[in-house]
Amino acid sequence: MKQDVIVIGAGIIGLATAEQLLLQGAKVTILERNTAGQESSWAGGGILSPLCPWDYSDEVTQLTSYSASLFPTWCSVLHQETGIDPEYDVSGMLILPPFDQKAALLWCSRREVKIKCCATPALESNNINVEGLLLPDIAQVRNPRLLQALRQRIMQLGGNLIEHCAVTDVKFMARRAQSSISSYGEFFADHFVICAGAWSPEILKNHAPELNIRPIKGQMLLFKFEQPPLPKILVQNGVYLIPRRDGHLLVGSTLEDVGFDKRTTVSARECLLARAYPILPALRTMPIIQQWSGLRPASIDNVPTIGKHPIITNVLINAGHFRYGVTMAPASAKILVNEITGAKQPLDIAPYQVGSHSAVFRDFLKP
Ligand SMILES: Cc1cc2nc3c(=O)[nH]c(=O)nc-3n(C[C@H](O)[C@H](O)[C@H](O)COP(=O)(O)OP(=O)(O)OC[C@H]3O[C@@H](n4cnc5c(N)ncnc54)[C@H](O)[C@@H]3O)c2cc1C
Repeated sequence: MKQDVIVIGAGIIGLATAEQLLLQGAKVTILERNTAGQESSWAGGGILSPLCPWDYSDEVTQLTSYSASLFPTWCSVLHQETGIDPEYDVSGMLILPPFDQKAALLWCSRREVKIKCCATPALESNNINVEGLLLPDIAQVRNPRLLQALRQRIMQLGGNLIEHCAVTDVKFMARRAQSSISSYGEFFADHFVICAGAWSPEILKNHAPELNIRPIKGQMLLFKFEQPPLPKILVQNGVYLIPRRDGHLLVGSTLEDVGFDKRTTVSARECLLARAYPILPALRTMPIIQQWSGLRPASIDNVPTIGKHPIITNVLINAGHFRYGVTMAPASAKILVNEITGAKQPLDIAPYQVGSHSAVFRDFLKP
C-alpha cells in the first residue's frame, strides 16, 4: 500500500490504526494534540470484555469477542519487539449479585462462552462469601503499558508521530479532503483517518452532522497492596475492582454526562468507595494513591463508527468506542485498514459504517 495517510489522534484507536497501516506499507503521520496515549485510553481499566456481556447487542459482542481474540498475539509481538510488557493476563472476571442469572447462562451457552456459578468463591481469604458468576476466560491488559509499547512499535515501523500538534481544521475540495490544518502547519495526504475519541465530531465540524459521539466522564481510584489482594477482576452493580500483577488495584468507574470537564470530584470518590468497601473490606484501611478521570467517546448503544465517510471519499472514521475501546482496538484497526486496502473483512461491518445510526446518512447510503 503506497499511500500517505494522516491519522488524527494518538489514543489506543489511533495508535492501533497507525500500526496496522504501517504494517501494510503505508507512509503514516500521526497528529496528536497532547502526548500520545494520555486521554481516555490511559484512564481506562484494561478489562478485555464488556462488564456484563449479556447486556449488550450482537454488534458489540461480535466486535469485542473478535478483538479480544487478537490480544494474545498482539501483546506478545509488542512485548517481543519493544521489550515493554503490556501485561496481558487471563485473570478471569467474577460478577457478584445482583445479576440476571438466567439471561447470563443462556447468553453464554448460545455463544459457547465458559461461565461457572461459584457457590463458594475462591475469595474466602478476603471474607467474601457470596455466590457469583465466574467468566474464567476474560483477560485484562495494563493499558498504559500497552500504549507505551504501541508508541515504540510505531517508531520502529517508521511512523511519524507529531505530538503537541492540534488539528484545527480539515480543508475540503469537492468530495475530498485536501489537507489538515494544525498548530504545526498544513499536512497533505491521500487519506485522513479521524481517531480523536470524544473530540472527533469537532474535527469534521459540519461534515459530521450526525456523528453521535460525545464525552462521558469516568473516574477511577488506585490503591497499592503488597500482593494482589484479589485473584481476579470483581464486578458488582457496575463497579469493578481490577488487581494488577504488582499489587496495584483499580476501582472504577463513574459514568458522568458533564461535557468536556475532566476534574475529579470528592463525590465520585465517595460513591466508588461506598460501593467498593463491601466487596473488598480490606480497602477500608488502605490509602487512595491516585484518582483520575477520562472522557470516554460515547456512542449510541456502545457501537463505534468504523469506516469511510459516506460523502468525503478519502476521510475515514474510527471513533466512538465508548466503554470498550481498549477491547475493540485491534479489530477496529484491522477493519479500518481493510476499508482502505479493499481486503476481505473478518466480520459483518455494516453496523459500524459511518452514519448507520443516523437518519441522514442512512438515507444517503441506501442503494
Ligand atoms: C474510567 C474509564 C475506564 C475504562 N475502562 C475500560 C476497560 O476496562 N476496557 C475497555 O476496553 N475500555 C475501557 N474504557 C474505554 C476506553 O478507554 C475508550 O473507549 C478508548 O480509550 C477510546 O480510545 P480513543 O483512542 O478513541 O480515544 P482517546 O484515548 O481519548 O484518544 C483520542 C486522542 O485524540 C487526540 N485529539 C483530540 N482532538 C485532537 C485534535 N484536534 N488534534 C489532534 N489530536 C486530537 C486526544 O488528545 C487523544 O489523545 C474506559 C474508559 C474510562 C474513561
